[in-house]
Amino acid sequence: MSTATAEHSSRTATLIDALRDIVGQAYILTDEQDMAPRLTDWRGRYHGKSLCIVRPANAAQAAQLVACCAHAGVALTPQGGNTGLCGGATPMNGEVLITLERLNQIQTLDTDNYTLTAGAGCTLQALQTAAAQAQRLFPLSLASEGSATLGGALATNAGGVHVLRYGNARNLCLGLEVILPDGQIWNGLRALRKDNAGYALKHLFIGAEGTLGLITAATVQLFPQPRHHALAWVGVNTIAAALRLLERLRQRAAERVNAFELIDAQALGLVLRHCAGTRTPIDAQTPWHVLIELADTADPIQSLLENTVEAALEAGEVNDAVFAGNLAQSQSLWSLRERISEAQQREGTSIKHDISLPTSAIPHFIESCTAALEAHFPGLRILCFGHLGDGNLHLNLSHPQPAEQERLMAQSEQARRIVHDLVLDNHGSIAAEHGIGQLKRDELRRTQNPVERALMTTLKKSLDPQGLMNPGKVL
Ligand SMILES: Cc1cc2nc3c(=O)[nH]c(=O)nc-3n(C[C@H](O)[C@H](O)[C@H](O)COP(=O)(O)OP(=O)(O)OC[C@H]3O[C@@H](n4cnc5c(N)ncnc54)[C@H](O)[C@@H]3O)c2cc1C
Repeated sequence: MSTATAEHSSRTATLIDALRDIVGQAYILTDEQDMAPRLTDWRGRYHGKSLCIVRPANAAQAAQLVACCAHAGVALTPQGGNTGLCGGATPMNGEVLITLERLNQIQTLDTDNYTLTAGAGCTLQALQTAAAQAQRLFPLSLASEGSATLGGALATNAGGVHVLRYGNARNLCLGLEVILPDGQIWNGLRALRKDNAGYALKHLFIGAEGTLGLITAATVQLFPQPRHHALAWVGVNTIAAALRLLERLRQRAAERVNAFELIDAQALGLVLRHCAGTRTPIDAQTPWHVLIELADTADPIQSLLENTVEAALEAGEVNDAVFAGNLAQSQSLWSLRERISEAQQREGTSIKHDISLPTSAIPHFIESCTAALEAHFPGLRILCFGHLGDGNLHLNLSHPQPAEQERLMAQSEQARRIVHDLVLDNHGSIAAEHGIGQLKRDELRRTQNPVERALMTTLKKSLDPQGLMNPGKVL
């Protein structure tokens, strides 16, 4: 062993001992096999390497861990539920992985103030349940909510199915507690809806994907629990018709439009093929399907939904519609939407995009993007679904023929460029809700406005001069 290697091993062993002293033997993993499940991302695309995995019990321990790593000049990757879709929570080069799963306490639930303060390791589902038990609603809802954590949702500024009504994680967050890269604790856990005392620092850490600090707790907004829900599955021929229906609903139901989800025939077909127990509510060949949810705290809302959809049917804008008559029917309609990711995983690899556009630009974008992709990759299969009400589409590309699929995957960079360039031409974003992580880092660099890039680099350098927080992600 060379002197340099021996010195490095001894420094590493000293750091591991120091981290072990902070969390205790039971909460540090160093064995490769024990660490393996945490070192692969949800999609199985990224396989990382970590010096060790540490699980602090509270913010004070987390701060000590971060300070210790800063002192040793060793980088860190934060991880929540590991459901992120861009490889952001996978350490790349032996970073220490800090998981927040033990910070899973609800600290306060203030029903009068409609706020909840909780540890970053609470799952979104646990927060929804706690809020519901207090007759309140925590509206952040994703198909991964059973595992996705509050910290991860804030670090990625997660969206989900209710953004149209309640906004994304950023909009729901009132305050944060963050461990800064040098180990200091910033306690910004304010439960205020108005707070203009200086810069809104919390927004720096929300959506930063762990590159600026470690979120250990947050205060979020709650809402009155809606008592009446109405759900419809509707078939339309074009996205423009779907958007006309959204406009009708907004005019009549305003903020009571809870969700407006788009599913194309290809995506529905995959769910029907791969997910046991699913069946189509209307003709599965209809090119576009829309799942609509309205909700009201005071009055039944079913007839408002039925009347609006029927008016669209009479105007020839809608082909067919089915309304959920009870909870079981609602759940089975929602499961068709929520199981798309699972169905895609079973089908095989695809080139995935998570984009957003002004809703008014979507029909033109879909037309031009489909034409451009088909010109380059004849016979391509385009799967399109997403939160249409928010202008957020998931556009996933694959080829039904194995040889062509191989060619497509080999040219994935070109396919991605075609989509992203058209997104930018239409004033959209290449990262709507899943973040940048490792997956889109190069695309962000290629497409980002230089002034924005310089500002981001300045912020990163000023908060994390050693570059130790989640290196290789975002920037
Ligand atoms: C089936 C499925 C459906 C999904 N649907 C949606 C959807 O509708 N909308 C949506 O927005 N996303 C969706 N996602 C993506 C994902 O669930 C969200 O991004 C989620 O918020 C990530 O939470 P997590 O706790 O799993 O974070 P992780 O995957 O563990 O981490 C994500 C990123 O946040 C960082 N991070 C994690 N915890 C912290 C912390 N405490 N402090 C600082 N940084 C931290 C990580 O380093 C990483 O960069 C879906 C994922 C799956 C698998």
